[in-house]
Amino acid sequence: MSVLSRPEFHDEAKAFEHIESILWPEGPVCPKCGNTDKHYKLVGVRTKPSKKNPNGVERHGLYKCAACRSQFTVRMGTIFEESHLPLHKWLQAIHLMCASKKGISAHQMHRILECTYEAAWFLCHRIREAMRSEDFTPMGGAGEIVEIDETFIGRLKGVPKNAGGASHKNTVLTLVQRGGTAVSFHVDRMTAAHVVPILRDNIAKETVIMTDEFPVYKIAAKHFADHGTVNHKAEEYGRVEIRPTTGFVNINTNTIEGFFSIFKRGMKGVYQHCAEHHLHRYLAEFDFRYTNRIARGVDDGARARIALQGAKGKRLAYRGTC
Ligand SMILES: [Zn+2]
Repeated sequence: MSVLSRPEFHDEAKAFEHIESILWPEGPVCPKCGNTDKHYKLVGVRTKPSKKNPNGVERHGLYKCAACRSQFTVRMGTIFEESHLPLHKWLQAIHLMCASKKGISAHQMHRILECTYEAAWFLCHRIREAMRSEDFTPMGGAGEIVEIDETFIGRLKGVPKNAGGASHKNTVLTLVQRGGTAVSFHVDRMTAAHVVPILRDNIAKETVIMTDEFPVYKIAAKHFADHGTVNHKAEEYGRVEIRPTTGFVNINTNTIEGFFSIFKRGMKGVYQHCAEHHLHRYLAEFDFRYTNRIARGVDDGARARIALQGAKGKRLAYRGTC
């Protein structure tokens, strides 16, 4: 036995049961009228015969709502809707993406799942959509520390490479709460007008922020309880200070450096190419795995369950991805 021997990864009926138990913990919910009281499970229904399947295919997880008489399955209104891939393969894909610290490429997914590359590419983007957090509660709070930093990745189309600078790359601004969550943004420019509103919207004002000496962070600092800075240029990476308002504080940005190191290794080693307009999806993926990490008590299985919970209400039309 191994994790991969679990029945929901091989048996379509079990895959439906598994997803239903997560998306419908209180029992089936009609996606059309919201009825939760009475419904019938339709067993043994088959699809119309086709050349490929002369006897049709069994339709698993089919219900009929007693109130509005419509038929439904757990796929409706989720990332699984309008997908031809069986649910047990979806579960394999979600597990692989949740368990791979640096991500998994669409090419690798296509080879493992034995589906087309296009199907695998779209599947990966839909899983990223499920991973996208909808929790807009500000990070930090009294006694909490949020580290903030920016990094540069990929190439901007049509911008010439300039020696030493990063203006030809995408800018990523990330906030990481020590011992907590991470959230990243693809920003146009590292100016106060772009950065300060993001920090104010996403970090509680009682928080101590920790950054390098980039001037924009100094401007942002007046909106927060305290501000510690490390001077990377002077090769300083951390020190302990006694602050008048917050007491002993470890001044460093090691937590966010750790986040960026996983992100960069994944983006360079696994994904290699990422179009500018898809970058936010990859950021959601790395934020998700970091936020739901083992150090916070979330193992691979639990992480996959959290991703599945995010599958609801996140249909992603093909047009939306290109
Ligand atoms: Zn209904």
